[in-house]
Amino acid sequence: MKSNKKCLVIDKRGHVGGNIYTEQVEGINVHKYGAHIFHTNDKEVWDYVNRFATFNRYTNSPIANYKGEIYNLPFNMNTFYRLWGVSDPTEAERIIESQRLKCAEPQSLEEQALSLVGHDIYEKLIKGYTEKQWGRDCKDIPAFIIKRLPVRFTWDNNYFNDQYQGIPVGGYTPIVEKLLEGCEVRLNTDYFAQRDYFDGIAQKIVYTGMLDEFYDFQFGPLEYRTLRFDTEILDKPNFQGNAVVNYTEKEIPFTRIIEHKHFEFGTQPKTVITREYSKEYEDGDEPYYPINDQKNNERYLSYKELADREENVIFGGRLAEYKYYDMWQIVRNSLDIVRKELKEA
Ligand code: UDP
Repeated sequence: MKSNKKCLVIDKRGHVGGNIYTEQVEGINVHKYGAHIFHTNDKEVWDYVNRFATFNRYTNSPIANYKGEIYNLPFNMNTFYRLWGVSDPTEAERIIESQRLKCAEPQSLEEQALSLVGHDIYEKLIKGYTEKQWGRDCKDIPAFIIKRLPVRFTWDNNYFNDQYQGIPVGGYTPIVEKLLEGCEVRLNTDYFAQRDYFDGIAQKIVYTGMLDEFYDFQFGPLEYRTLRFDTEILDKPNFQGNAVVNYTEKEIPFTRIIEHKHFEFGTQPKTVITREYSKEYEDGDEPYYPINDQKNNERYLSYKELADREENVIFGGRLAEYKYYDMWQIVRNSLDIVRKELKEA
């Protein structure tokens, strides 16, 4: 808009913001489509998002519950102390070294995890959680997914290595509302139901839906994981004392419980918790995680070839690029694309 362009945003849902949408329940900002914790190393991205919100000092330090035993994440001295009773970092390194799989180029998540942290951590804190999350054997899951998790020989429970981190005070929805000031927004509006009409009125289309759907699934569907959220209001101020508790054993059907108030240090008399269940995407579900295994990545490349030839469509986000992006990457990509577009316009 600053460059005198008009923008129409359509969303097939009844609200703005996509999956970062937050909604107030009992005075608590509930992350309706799963926990979103903003973190980045990119100063420009951080400065940009801070124009639209004040970020609090929330630091993600999830807890893992394995058969009632409690461990700190990510894997650090607190975890190693609880597992093996060691408080000396050299001793912890020695134990991991003795268990590690010696493998130059891990081909699967299992090989990657075993070569990173060894047998004990893999069995208690990775295998069950990952197989529930992805619905596949760890041998059939790409290695890059676990590279996200730090391993530290310090007593630092911060899940992220990034310089900047926090939750926007008041939730994410106000950020999106501010971003959309001056734009026309039409909700409950499906692009595919009126595709010719929208193609006709737009000079450029930014498409953030599923790439395979854009091309009518002509090379076959891309696979996704979806989540089911089971949310409860509890008549007590504190359920689990932490925003995120992962359940890492296979036998418990959900992957984690989010207690939303702890993202903003809430002191409300009630609390809202969400159990998160992961399952294979089926028609009609919300797609959340692309499954970037070889078969799907190859199929994606066929679609991408078509996408690269489009002159009036910009594809962005987890679904249109079929990539497991974090929020900061989406902001980074958007800033880059806008700059390029405005230069060319
Ligand atoms: N992971 C794990 N145990 C845990 C948490 C995560 O093994 O307690 C692995 C799992 O394979 C998961 C990946 O790390 O898919 C990334 O998890 P994270 O919670 O960072 O990703 P998110 O689902 O929040 O995008």
